[in-house]
Formats: sequence, C-alpha cells, structure tokens
Amino acid sequence: MRRRLATRALVRSAMSRRTHPSPAAQILWDRIRGARVDGIRFRRSSVVLGQVVAFYAPRQNVVVEFDGVTLNEAALVAAGLRVVRVPGDLPTRLDDALGAIRQQAGRVVLDRAEPPPLIQGRRTRSTARQEPTATVTPLQRLESELGQQGRRVGQDLRYICPLCRSRRRTLAVRELPDQNLWLYCFEGCSKPALLSVIGWSYRDLYARRES
Ligand SMILES: [Zn+2]
Repeated sequence: MRRRLATRALVRSAMSRRTHPSPAAQILWDRIRGARVDGIRFRRSSVVLGQVVAFYAPRQNVVVEFDGVTLNEAALVAAGLRVVRVPGDLPTRLDDALGAIRQQAGRVVLDRAEPPPLIQGRRTRSTARQEPTATVTPLQRLESELGQQGRRVGQDLRYICPLCRSRRRTLAVRELPDQNLWLYCFEGCSKPALLSVIGWSYRDLYARRES
C-alpha cells in the first residue's frame, strides 16, 4: 500500500513537471520530441526506477537530466542506464546538449550486444526430455518479485514494466512449455536493464532442475 501511494505521488510529480516545464526543458523538448534527433524516441518527465527524470529514451537506455537536479545516478547506472547531464542555461548551449545526447544514445545502440532471445533457443533432445522438477516456477517467482499478477493477452501475460512503468502493461512474459520464461517490453526497455531492475540474472529465466 505504501508502495502504491509512493508511486502515485511520483506520477503526480512527473505530470506536474510535464505540464509546467522549465523554459530550458521546453526548449530541449521542442528539439528532441517526435524522434527528431537521430530517430531517438524520448519520453518527457518520465518515472524511471522510482525517480522523475527530465527525459528518458527507453530503447537507448538513456536518461537526460539538467545540471543541479538531484538524481540517484548510481541507481540508474547500476541498472544499465546512461545519464546525460545538460546545462540548465539553454538555449545558449543547446547544441552542446544535443551533441552529448546524440553521442550517448548512439553509443548505447552500438554497445547493446544482448544474447539472442530465449525463445529461439533450441535444446538438445536429451535435456528436452527431462521433466521439470522445480517446485517454484520462474513465472511464480517473477510475479512475486513484481508484486503483480499478469493479465492474459493471447499467449502472453502482461505486466506493468518495472523499468518504464508504462501503465499500458507493456511487459510481455511468455511461459514456455519447459517453464522457462521469455520476456519483452513493448516500450523498448532493454532486457539487461529489465532483469537488473527485477534483481535477476539471465539464469533466473530458466526453470531450475535437479541434475
Ligand atoms: Zn519497459
């Protein structure tokens, strides 16, 4: 309950920052909105990991914040996000700010060497024949970590993504026949960042078996 109240307060604070942007925030937003800079999609005044940030590009894992605004950068960096600080005295240094954003966002795209999605994984016949012996399935553990119950949409269960926290339940999770999990956020959140927010490693997506 306390957590829900805190979330509500955060969303309210994000909304107020969106409806009453600082002059610098408005100037920068006019330049980066609608994927105008290198096709990078930014959200304005977003809640990321329990913090309201000026701009957030979920696909590139980049957070943009003005100098002097308090932010727990360590928590963001630990989750695999990059933080770009821009001067508050825009527009005089607008081009510098745009350059920094471009550089960080571009770098992240190049850096993203994720393992292939688990759904493409092919297991050998000998391991495929093993019966799962896990008493708690990855899905059950995930739901307890997220504190949510999934809503079924086709083959998937949908959750509020703990990273972008979009209320449209953009986190799709599929339980495969062997109880391993496949997950994907439609907002483009990267899998390493997502797992890190949940406190998981890739191994946690697999059902545990006695061997
Ligand atoms: Zn997400």
